[in-house]
Amino acid sequence: MAYVKTWENNEKINATEKKKLEKDGLEIFNDIPHYAKNGFSSIPKEEWDLFKWAGLYLQRPKEAGYFMMRVNVPSGILTNEQTVALANIAKDYGRGVFDITTRQAIQFHWLEIEQIPDIFNRLEAVGLSSAGACGDITRTIVGNPLAGIDPDELFDTSDIVKDVYEFFQHNEDFSNLPRKYKMSISSNVRNASNAEINCISFTPAVKEIEGEQVVGFHLKVGGGLSSKPFLAQTLDVFVKPEQVKEVAIAVTTIFRDNGYREKRHLARLKFLVADWGVEKFKEKLEGITGPLLSKGEEPTKEWNAGYFYGVQKQKQEGLSYLGFNVPVGRLDADEVLELARISKEYGNGEIRTCNSQNLIIPNVLNEKTDELLKEKIFERITVRPNSFIGYSVSCTGIEYCNLALVETKERMRRIAEELDQTITLDVPVRFHMVGCPNSCGQRQIADIGLQGIKMRTKDKQMVEAFEIYVGGTLNAGGKFNEKLKGKVNAEQLIDVLADFLTHFKEEKLLGENFHEF
Ligand code: SF4
Repeated sequence: MAYVKTWENNEKINATEKKKLEKDGLEIFNDIPHYAKNGFSSIPKEEWDLFKWAGLYLQRPKEAGYFMMRVNVPSGILTNEQTVALANIAKDYGRGVFDITTRQAIQFHWLEIEQIPDIFNRLEAVGLSSAGACGDITRTIVGNPLAGIDPDELFDTSDIVKDVYEFFQHNEDFSNLPRKYKMSISSNVRNASNAEINCISFTPAVKEIEGEQVVGFHLKVGGGLSSKPFLAQTLDVFVKPEQVKEVAIAVTTIFRDNGYREKRHLARLKFLVADWGVEKFKEKLEGITGPLLSKGEEPTKEWNAGYFYGVQKQKQEGLSYLGFNVPVGRLDADEVLELARISKEYGNGEIRTCNSQNLIIPNVLNEKTDELLKEKIFERITVRPNSFIGYSVSCTGIEYCNLALVETKERMRRIAEELDQTITLDVPVRFHMVGCPNSCGQRQIADIGLQGIKMRTKDKQMVEAFEIYVGGTLNAGGKFNEKLKGKVNAEQLIDVLADFLTHFKEEKLLGENFHEF
C-alpha cells in the first residue's frame, strides 16, 4: 500500500515527525547488530528513541544503558515453548523480572545492547516479536484471553487477531503513524478487551442478514487514555469476521494519512475522531472499503474488567480453565518456568495473559483441577485472591520508567496487601496506580485510580504524592473516574485509603459495587 505522505512538505510538522521522515523507526533493526557489537557507547543519543520501534526503551537512568523490552502477545495466548523462551530470557538477561502489562504483553528489564541479538533470535525461534511493541506504530492487539475456549464468546477470534497482527507486524507501510495506535478484537460478551479505551476496537455483534443470524463485530474508534482521555465511539457499521483485516487496514490508513502531526499531544486517533465525528469517519472509511452493512444487535452484557478468577468451565465438555492472580502483574522467571511445567503437565501447555495483569491456565481436565491447585506455587499465585491485591493494577513506575514521578508497583502491592489485612469487603474494589499522566496502568477506568505527582510539603520539601480518582467503569458504555480534591502525601496514602474504604463499607448496601455507590 503506497504512502500518501500528505504531511511530508508540511513545514509545521513537529521535530519527531521530521526525524521519522529521515529514518523509519523499523530501520533500527538493521542497526542493532552493529550497536550490539560495539557496545552502548556506540549508539548516538539521537537514535535512542528509534529503539522503541523494536520494543525497546532505555530504562531509568538512560545513561546507564539498560533496556526495557516489551514483547507482543496478541490476544494474550502463549504456547508452552513461548512461555519457556520468555522465562529463560528473563532469567538469563533480565535479572528474573517478568512483568505482565495491561495490554497482555510481557515486559523485561535490565537488558544490555550486547544481549539484544540473541534475545531477538530466541523470540523469533518461537514465533514471538517485540517489533512495534512501542513507538508510533500498531501495537500488540489486545484480545479475549479465553478465545476459543470461552462460553461467553460469540466465536473464536484467535485466528482473526493473528491474521491482523501478522499483517501489521514489521509492515513499513504502517510504521510511521502520527502516534501510538492500539487495537482490540474480541467477541467476549463481557468486554474482556476493554474496547472503549482502544484507538480501534472490534466488539461482538449479531445481525440478521437475509433471514439468518450472522455473528460479527461492531466497530469503535477514537478511544484512548493519557492526560486527555476519550471513550471510543461506535460507528454505524457491522463488520463480518472476514472483513476485519480490510476494515482494520482502512482505519489505520485514515489515521496514517489524516492524523495530526503538528502537535504531538494532539496526534492520537482520538483527536481526529473527536473533530470529525462518527458520521464523517464512517464516510471516510467506506470511501476505502466500499459500503458496509449498518449496525446489528449488541450482545455485550456487563464488563468483567479482564478478571477470570477461579476454576471455570470451558465451552469444551470436560475441560476447565483456571484464572490466577499475579500480584501487580510481576512474576519471577523461576515462577514462570514452574507455571509452564504445570500447564504442560495438567493442560495443553498454554498460558494466557490478561489485561488485568493476571494469567490463565486453560485446557485442564475437570477432574485434574483440584490436584493442580495443590502445587506449591499457587500459595502465592492464587485463584481466590483477597479483595484488594486481587484487583490491583500498577504501571512500571520510577523503578524503571523515565517518565515516572513516583514509585508504583511495590507501593501498590504493599498498600493492597495491608488493606487486605484490615478491611474485608463483599465486593472487589479495583485499584489502578500510575506514576504519571500517561496512564499505562489505565488509571481512568479504576474504581479507585491513584496517579503519582510531586508535591511540596509545608516545610518546602518535594515529596511523592498521589491524586485520587473515583468511580471509573466500562459498564454501560463507560465513564472515567473523577478526581477528589487535593493530593495526598505518599506516606499518608494507605491511611487515607483505609478511611475511605471503611466509610464505603459502612455506607454501602450488601452486594453494591464501587461504581454503583
Ligand atoms: Fe511510566 Fe507513566 Fe507509563 Fe507509569 S504511566 S509506566 S510512570 S509512562
